[in-house]
Amino acid sequence: MNKRLITLSILCFFTTVVFSQIKFSDETKKYIEYNDPVIVFKNGLLIDGKGNTARPHQTVIISNGKIEWLGDDSKATIPQGANIIDLDGKAIMPGLVMLHEHMYISAHSIEPRYLNLRQLPFSFPRLYLAAGATTIRTCGSIEPYSDLRIKKDIDLGIFPGPNMELTAPYIEGKSTRFPQMNENKTPADAAAFVNYWAGQGFTSFKAYMGVDQPTLKAAIDAAHKRKLKITGHLDIVTYKEAAALGMDNLEHGFMASTDFAVGKKENEPPAARAAIKSLSNLNIQTDSVKQFIRFLIDKKTGITSSLAVFEGATTTQPGPVADAINAMSPDTRDFYLQRLVSAKSATGPTDYDKAFARADKMEKIFYDMGGLLTVGTDPTGNGGTLAGYGNWRAIELLVEAAGFTPLEAIKIATCNGSIALGFDKTTGTIETGKSADLLIIDGDPSKNISDIRKVLFVFKNGVGYNSKKLFDSVKGKVGFN
Ligand SMILES: [Zn+2]
Repeated sequence: MNKRLITLSILCFFTTVVFSQIKFSDETKKYIEYNDPVIVFKNGLLIDGKGNTARPHQTVIISNGKIEWLGDDSKATIPQGANIIDLDGKAIMPGLVMLHEHMYISAHSIEPRYLNLRQLPFSFPRLYLAAGATTIRTCGSIEPYSDLRIKKDIDLGIFPGPNMELTAPYIEGKSTRFPQMNENKTPADAAAFVNYWAGQGFTSFKAYMGVDQPTLKAAIDAAHKRKLKITGHLDIVTYKEAAALGMDNLEHGFMASTDFAVGKKENEPPAARAAIKSLSNLNIQTDSVKQFIRFLIDKKTGITSSLAVFEGATTTQPGPVADAINAMSPDTRDFYLQRLVSAKSATGPTDYDKAFARADKMEKIFYDMGGLLTVGTDPTGNGGTLAGYGNWRAIELLVEAAGFTPLEAIKIATCNGSIALGFDKTTGTIETGKSADLLIIDGDPSKNISDIRKVLFVFKNGVGYNSKKLFDSVKGKVGFN
């Protein structure tokens, strides 16, 4: 046996063991439609996630959780004993890799000092998987030990859910309005905080609005020393300052950028509304904006788009989606509808509307100039951006608001996410050797992006889940648990 063959057989041995080791619980089995060692999808419209034009009449063969072969139907050799699924023109695309997800939702607060965030360990993992998210980054934790348990339970097959990249509790600065967040008084505190949570099993970090440059630098250095990545939703630190310090990524597209806020002093927050005001007036076609974006790209700082949650604060939002409303528990629905009325009651266009319209186009400029743009949902805000439904809206808005083609939006939501997480060798595109993380869609999202809502089956590591059954299992419960 030559060396390559030996390596191959060892690899196969391990993948087989890993694949068959999962003993799904009776609960998880309720949602599993396909769990065969070898599955052949034939006659599919293949969208590879790399931005290539969709190809009809394609076969994809998966074996023990991995993509083994893909190509024209006419060239396929069907392995014996395979379960053959005729897609009859349905689309097959990579599972979504969504980077700004959470296990919690915004909820009613009686007392503003105790802003209410509610962990949803039961419903959110199901919603993510149902919508087609096979990998998520949790992007800031409020119940870290609960997040660890959710991931472990999913990995063990106890409950259905996506693969999870766990982000530690938020790295905050000296003071915070969130009672769920620790206040790091010094840079040394921030470094110790990173080290502690890395020790508890968290593999990514997120800095929050209250950090200043010395605190952020300490956190970045501590994360990088462990070869872990750090992203941020910043405010006191501008995007340019963060990129200069070595930040891996910034959240919320350009909506959280304070780089243009008039009168902003270094290491101090901008005046209230100054950042939104500055974005609302920004001429994004100027050289100075291009140079700003070029600086981020040169420093290899990525950007995560989260347009769905911001749309929820505009006067132009389309309003409640019936399926999402029906998924909510009564008090969650009540919270959302109240917030919706107040958002829509303003006379537009507001500064926020204008900032939203400019910031989303900046995402396209960033992408076109070569920046690594990813996408996430951020299921917080006015409470209407739920896991699952919100994932779809975030991707639709890349097309509707930012101006991407559907194929680009799909690439951002699959391939780019996996690159940002460092998972691109194993997931994010349909290629031989990668994990069988695949979506079967009753439509063509490469032409009409809203067709991503027509997910039938979600394959995670080669196991096919029934999307509708997952959605149905949380109907009326989202917000309760
Ligand atoms: Zn968030």
